[in-house]
Amino acid sequence: MATLSLPKIIPGGSFLIENAAPEDVFTPEDFSEEQQEIARTTAEFAEKSILPRAAEIEAKNFAVTRELLLEAGQLGLLAVDVPEQYGGLALDKVTSALVADRIAVSASFSVSISAHTGIGTLPVIWYGTPAQKEKYLPKLASGEWIAAYALSESSSGSDAMNIRAQAHLSPDGQQYILNGEKMWISNAGFADLFIVFAKIVRDTPAGEPGQPEQFSAFLIERDTAGLTIGAEEHKLGIRGSSTCPLVLSDCAIPVDNLLGEAGKGHHIAFNILNVGRYKLGAATVGGARHSLRTAVRYGKQRMAFGKPIVSFGLIQEMIAETAAGIFAGEALVYRVVGAIDTALSTLAADAPASEVQKRIEDYAVECSIVKVWCSEMLERAVDHCLQIHGGYGYVEEYPAERTWRDARINRIFEGTNEINRLIITGFTMKRALQGRLALLPAIRKVMDEVMAGPSTRDEASGPLAAEKALLAGAKKLGLFCSGAASQKYPTNLQDQQEIMGALADILIEILVMESAILRAEKFAGRSKTAIALAQLAATRSFGVIQASAERILGAVAEGDMLRTQMAIFRRLAKHDPINTVAIGRAIAEEMIAAERYTL
Ligand SMILES: Cc1cc2nc3c(=O)[nH]c(=O)nc-3n(C[C@H](O)[C@H](O)[C@H](O)COP(=O)(O)OP(=O)(O)OC[C@H]3O[C@@H](n4cnc5c(N)ncnc54)[C@H](O)[C@@H]3O)c2cc1C
Repeated sequence: MATLSLPKIIPGGSFLIENAAPEDVFTPEDFSEEQQEIARTTAEFAEKSILPRAAEIEAKNFAVTRELLLEAGQLGLLAVDVPEQYGGLALDKVTSALVADRIAVSASFSVSISAHTGIGTLPVIWYGTPAQKEKYLPKLASGEWIAAYALSESSSGSDAMNIRAQAHLSPDGQQYILNGEKMWISNAGFADLFIVFAKIVRDTPAGEPGQPEQFSAFLIERDTAGLTIGAEEHKLGIRGSSTCPLVLSDCAIPVDNLLGEAGKGHHIAFNILNVGRYKLGAATVGGARHSLRTAVRYGKQRMAFGKPIVSFGLIQEMIAETAAGIFAGEALVYRVVGAIDTALSTLAADAPASEVQKRIEDYAVECSIVKVWCSEMLERAVDHCLQIHGGYGYVEEYPAERTWRDARINRIFEGTNEINRLIITGFTMKRALQGRLALLPAIRKVMDEVMAGPSTRDEASGPLAAEKALLAGAKKLGLFCSGAASQKYPTNLQDQQEIMGALADILIEILVMESAILRAEKFAGRSKTAIALAQLAATRSFGVIQASAERILGAVAEGDMLRTQMAIFRRLAKHDPINTVAIGRAIAEEMIAAERYTL
């Protein structure tokens, strides 16, 4: 695995209580030559091979999708995470995120390739036996075979541990016999290999206590008797991706097709999702970049009141907001994936998969933050793109309509945004209680500080001084609200989902704000645009933080206590607004002139 030159490992979840320096975080400005080369190859493939065939892809011409997947395989784009001995490139996670990012010109194809390389192939890489790897990985890395991941069922999506599919060991102990159904399986229409989750149930003689069910994963090939692929779903968006149910009816597979250990399938299911989440983040950033380009190109040639519509302030505002979202999204995704790479780079090449997962799992909160924020950022971007197209945005001939529909799925799969918000706050609180995150001392310190008196502003300097002060205030607000919420609900905060959600929004926006500011600081004054984008992103984030903090305080205090807490809130949130109108115009002018996102 290629190693990165980041100096230190930043523990997952620590961003709320520690301040990172620009040199501590990985950003797109740190891409190595090799990473840039793969990014270029991917972008060229997207532009020259995928875009011209977008209509065929959307028409569910899966022969075209397979052809393009094979071409991606020939370019090495399916092999980034695969070990070299099995025909892979064994590159870092930033590179695999970059492929997801640059390929995202067709959301449908993006889903097909991500489902294959991420949730489809990674389980074999991490949990496969040498024989399973030998058998499947070379084919998966080349695109000769395509994989799918089948966890969800009609009665259990978010509640994934509740699956009903069952596996029974055959009387001769040679086979597992699977029965059940799976729902919404990406790539199912053309996949060759399915990672299927089911519970092993031991048949025990009458009267004897039964063994507990064991949540497990299995490798099932497409032509296995008893596996039926149902009809394609008719979807709102990503219509060119394949989504089908599966039926398992006495589907017999050799015992050797158990993936990982019996009873440990949930580790596979959930750890893979962390990777799925940061890849989804990267893909949504790529989608937003593509959407901005579409919007600006259209807006430059569309005339109204004798002028191109991009000359109007309210159109420029949408362009600037989209650009700031992309800038912050890139900063967020590559900071998180870069931190994961740094954590992994200290592992020996032959370290067990369990170690790799443990390191990635340490960033589970950040992975969920990436998933939630980037999916919602993309929705704003495609909505602006559609709005800039006016009536043409609402009809199928123009791409804005499709991208608007396509974006919606990102809030649903890889864990809904509600589930991910609960993970963000829940994991953070759990880590604090386990003593793995020094949250409680940090909350106490802020409480002492705010009780001591009014001077709580931190001094900051440089072109982003105001934003750095906002960030310092935001972190204190986050700690203050966490303290207030856990004081009111010391043992049952998890039952207060709206408060958990609002706390998650504060955590999310703090990481976004800090990532955008640190990235702009990395330019060391060489890019006014980077500073402007960070200012816009930070202003937006702070607005969300303020609203979320008010929502929390209103829910956990009343009367005099609420008045005291609101006085503290106002002190921590105090700031003078910056001129986001002028900043937005300057950003938009640059993007309009270049007809694309420029950083
Ligand atoms: C196009 C598409 C592709 C997909 N691809 C795959 C795939 O390849 N493999 C696969 O295994 N699955 C796949 N899925 C399934 C997807 O992961 C699930 O749809 C998703 O996890 C949500 O589960 P659900 O649909 O059962 O919704 P539910 O779990 O029923 O959720 C419904 C609503 O309730 C909310 N909710 C649920 N539980 C809670 C809670 N505890 N607290 C608060 N709110 C809650 C949810 O956030 C949501 O808003 C795909 C789905 C789609 C639509």
